[in-house]
Amino acid sequence: MSHAAIPIAGALLLGRSRLSLPVIATGIVFSMFPDADVIGFRFGVDYADGWGHRGATHSLLFAAAAALFTVALVRPQRYVLAGLFLFISMASHGLLDTLTNGGLGAALFWPLDETRHFAPLTPIAVSPIGIADFISARGIKVLQSEVIWIWTPLTISVAMILGLKHWRVKWLQRNGTAQQ
Ligand SMILES: [Zn+2]
Repeated sequence: MSHAAIPIAGALLLGRSRLSLPVIATGIVFSMFPDADVIGFRFGVDYADGWGHRGATHSLLFAAAAALFTVALVRPQRYVLAGLFLFISMASHGLLDTLTNGGLGAALFWPLDETRHFAPLTPIAVSPIGIADFISARGIKVLQSEVIWIWTPLTISVAMILGLKHWRVKWLQRNGTAQQ
């Protein structure tokens, strides 16, 4: 669930004037979409398969294709920015998964290379698959580590950048060279 933190932070930084609500909402869906691959377990797809969990849908190519396809289909305003936003929303999912301490890594470079990757540091507790496991002591530990490693640094960064922007506008206004 914490994957949504990335598009939310991006939307806060870029603002409604640059990204429309439908694009932001799509970004949030995109950030969580790669885990739809768990459906494969029901159909006998192995975790380690190309289309297994953390496989193809977690790759950079899949994210780029999904972003391009959506932009071509919907043709949003500022389509380059919207496309980048959607790409980062989905690509960040696989990258964040490489920071987790369990399961198999993410197949970032599928289909060129099906190796599952982990980052050099894996501070985030891996989220259990399935709701029942999530509502448990382990689930609370996972939430804790996601708050520490994802939500807190993003909130601080966004607040700092927005604060600096605000301060800069004020400063420019006071000096009579406001651009807005
Ligand atoms: Zn995932």
